[in-house]
This record gives sequence, structure tokens and C-alpha cells, in this order.
Amino acid sequence: MQIHENFPLKAYNTFSIDAKTRFFNSFSFVDELEEKLTIYSDDPIFILGGGSNILFTKDYDGAILKNEIKGIELQHEDADHVYVKVGAGENWHQFVLHCIHHNWAGVENLSLIPGNIGASPIQNIGAYGVELDDVFWSLEAFHLSEKKIHTFTATDCEFGYRDSVFKNRYKNEFAILSVTFQLKKKPIYHISYGAITEELEKMGVKDLSIKAVSQAVINIRSSKLPDPQKIANAGSFFKNPEVATEKYEALKLQFPNIVAYPLAKGSVKLAAGWMIEQCGWKGYRKGDAGCHAKQALVLVNYGNATGKEIYDLSEEILQSVKNKFDVFLDREVNIF
Ligand SMILES: Cc1cc2nc3c(=O)[nH]c(=O)nc-3n(C[C@H](O)[C@H](O)[C@H](O)COP(=O)(O)OP(=O)(O)OC[C@H]3O[C@@H](n4cnc5c(N)ncnc54)[C@H](O)[C@@H]3O)c2cc1C
Repeated sequence: MQIHENFPLKAYNTFSIDAKTRFFNSFSFVDELEEKLTIYSDDPIFILGGGSNILFTKDYDGAILKNEIKGIELQHEDADHVYVKVGAGENWHQFVLHCIHHNWAGVENLSLIPGNIGASPIQNIGAYGVELDDVFWSLEAFHLSEKKIHTFTATDCEFGYRDSVFKNRYKNEFAILSVTFQLKKKPIYHISYGAITEELEKMGVKDLSIKAVSQAVINIRSSKLPDPQKIANAGSFFKNPEVATEKYEALKLQFPNIVAYPLAKGSVKLAAGWMIEQCGWKGYRKGDAGCHAKQALVLVNYGNATGKEIYDLSEEILQSVKNKFDVFLDREVNIF
């Protein structure tokens, strides 16, 4: 077996950060994972997917193991649903296209999200009014030190807004091996969010289908978000913060145009992108680190920015939002 030492990670993270890892390897089966954990038993372990939600601020002094477990399997079905088990190393968007091809509904609004299946429950990926937990059934994960497979239900995962137990209590403890989805035979369309309805009209769609919704989402995302192949980035760098309704009312008096979405339980979600823009960061560039000109929530690497430079910019942005709005922004991207 080939052992990669001091391995460059630039091609393995969509921020295109030129960091190195002490060891790099991959696994396609659980036995192979076990074998590699034995080889690197003295080193910290990092499980890598598509690298689209991470920022390396320094070299990684341990072993990075890339999850390449493949397979999409229809497990069973009932009158209304199909249950589909997917290997953690499958690409998320390819899976969405596979569902559309088979007329399995539920993930069409999540089209074109980069990354792999294994990471999708970790931050409960979401877009255009749908989140992973709407279609999640269960997952299997390997405990890295106990060396045992555990099954997690949705309740066990403690899903929240871009959050789960794997970002908190079980951070870096498990390698997710597969995710089982519960998909609908008859679609329920979510088209009121964002500009989906307008896009469908523009496309001239008469008969709504999951394929049309997916294409509308693809069109909107392609026009709004920077393609990491062209400008390196990791999507939204910050989460939209939730504040109490009273806090929102006070902010609204001071900033009448503030962009916000009401939530249940007396709280409001504020648009972090709007606040960042108000602080003057949209289109800002320092060296090769910048804040995207069309989407202030997205930090970008124009070429040779270091992870530390991107992180320092995020810190400046965070401080300025705190000073202007007295609101604290949480980072969505995983920092290492
Ligand atoms: C242009 C762009 C747009 C984006 N849009 C969205 C969006 O609309 N909505 C959204 O929610 N996200 C979005 N993202 C963020 C990102 O695509 C998701 O978070 C995605 O799920 C990350 O998957 P990944 O395989 O690349 O994870 P990675 O970046 O490889 O890993 C992320 C974290 O998960 C861990 N991890 C990965 N795989 C496993 C595994 N099998 N087992 C255990 N731990 C694992 C890693 O250790 C790391 O901590 C966007 C990113 C980009 C670049």
C-alpha cells in the first residue's frame, strides 16, 4: 500500500488552500478504514469528503482519510416512499440527479450543493426551503476509537440549522459510512422560496416536475454563487444568526431595511449577508483573500491566499458586524 507523506491538499479543498497533511490515504470499504486506522493509530484522524466546507489555516499534523465508499441501493418501499441507502463517498449532486431520474422526490431543491453524501448530515445541508432532515431516515457511522458501527436515527442526530450532533458532542469521533434517505413517490413542491417560481416562469414550465424544480434551482445557483472551479470558495462562510424578536424590533428601529425571516418560537433569523454588506465588505479584496462581489456571505480565494489570511478576514468581518449591529456571527465553514 502506498503511503502519502507531506501530501498537498490544494486539490482536495474548494478554497484551494495550499496546506499539507502529514499523511493522506483513502478508503472504499469499512475494513479498509479499520486497516488504515491501525496504521495511523498514533496520529489524529480527519475524515475528508469533497472538501467544500473546510478551511485549512495550517498544515494538518495527522492522517487525512478520504471517504470513497460508493453505492446507491434501493432498500425497500411502501405505498408513499422509497428508502435509498447511499455510500458516504458518493457525490451529493450526482445523487440528486439519480433521484430525479428515478422520480424519487424530496432532494430537488438541494440540487448543485457541492460535496459528498457523508458530510450532508453533519451540517444538515439546506437550500431553498428544504433541509437534509426533511428526507433523512438513518445513517451508519464507524466510531473511530471504539471501532464499532453505530446506527443513528434522525432524533439521534439532533439536527438543527446547519447543525447536528456530529458538529458538537461527537465532533471528529465518527466516520459516516452511509446515509439512508426516505424519498417520496409523489412530490410535494417547495417553490415559494427564493426566486424559484419566477425562474420556472422564465423557463416556460407548464407542468411542474421535480426535474423542472431542480433545473430552476441549478439556474438560480449558477447565476448567484461563484463556481469554486473558477473562484475558490466554500459557499456561505457564516450562518444567518437567530435573535429574539425584541432584539430584532430594536434593530429594525435603527436599521429600517434590515433583512430578516420570522421563525417559530419568538425568534427571527437575520440575513448575515445583508449585515456584512452594510459594513462595507461586499467586493472587498486584500491580497488574494476577498468577500465576493455578488454574494457578501461568501469569502473567496482569488489565487494564493493562505487559510490564515481568509480566517483573519472572517474575523474582521465578524468584529465589524458585532460593532455595528451587536450581533455575533457564527462560522458555517469548519476551521482546521
Ligand atoms: C459553492 C458552494 C455552495 C454551497 N452551498 C451550500 C448550500 O446551499 N447549503 C449547504 O448546506 N451547504 C452548502 N455548501 C457547503 C458544502 O457544500 C456542504 O457543507 C457539504 O455537505 C460539504 O460536503 P463535503 O463532502 O465537501 O465535506 P468536507 O468539506 O469534506 O467536510 C466537512 C466536514 O465534515 C467532515 N466529514 C466529511 N465527510 C465525512 C464523513 N463521511 N464522516 C465523518 N465526517 C465527515 C469533515 O471532517 C469536515 O469536518 C456550499 C459549498 C460551496 C463551495
